[in-house]
Amino acid sequence: MAKYQRIVLKLSGEVLAGGANFGISTERVKSLAAEIAEVSRTGVQIGLVVGGGNFFRGVAAAAKDMDRVTADHMGMLATVINALALQDALEKAGVPTRVMTAIEMHEVAEPYIRRRAIRHLEKGRIVIFAAGTSNPHFSTDTAATLGALEIHAQVIAKATRVEGVYGKDPMRFPDAVLYREVSYLEVLAKALEVMDASAVAMCRDNQLAILVFNLNTYGNIMRISMGEPVGTLIH
Ligand code: UDP
Repeated sequence: MAKYQRIVLKLSGEVLAGGANFGISTERVKSLAAEIAEVSRTGVQIGLVVGGGNFFRGVAAAAKDMDRVTADHMGMLATVINALALQDALEKAGVPTRVMTAIEMHEVAEPYIRRRAIRHLEKGRIVIFAAGTSNPHFSTDTAATLGALEIHAQVIAKATRVEGVYGKDPMRFPDAVLYREVSYLEVLAKALEVMDASAVAMCRDNQLAILVFNLNTYGNIMRISMGEPVGTLIH
């Protein structure tokens, strides 16, 4: 029996690139889709929010001479490419999906309409939220938070490449200590780099739990859904 009935899973664009730094690895997307499909089949309702960093980020060096708003528009469009790749792979894995975009593009995907998104979830479809919040100067972490609040998800599962939240960067400091639980306030006060501060603050204001976990361990999404102790709970 699953612990959570409805979750929002936040994937950065980079995870779709697999070993490469750029673009989409069809192998990685396929294995990710298989893992997510397995969870969906247990009846857990999944909203998927995907970033665009594997293609473009508004704050990237490549965009430094650009108008920020234009660059952010490019970043948001990049998330749509990723959403379509995930949709394709998830449907091949046998799960019905809908891509909903915050920036309207009717020929490509449905516009985001809250009640419709909830209806899709109730019917067992995975809803992939694309194009961020539609606003420049935001991130897909914020989009995931807003989406989770709107669809009343019980938790945001935030995928990373490490086990969870550490007191300092585990990639640089081998003695970094992993937290099993940490408060929103501590994440903000210590500027622990797990999620955008604005997204963490919004979760705090609304008491929405965030579970930070290692996506590179196969089965973690299922473990989270079943309530097994995985990663770090920010609450
Ligand atoms: N972006 C934006 N508004 C949003 C979400 C995203 O302007 O609401 C742009 C921004 O330029 C960002 C890029 O889209 O750098 C990709 O999103 P993000 O950096 O969150 O992707 P991730 O790091 O998760 O791959």
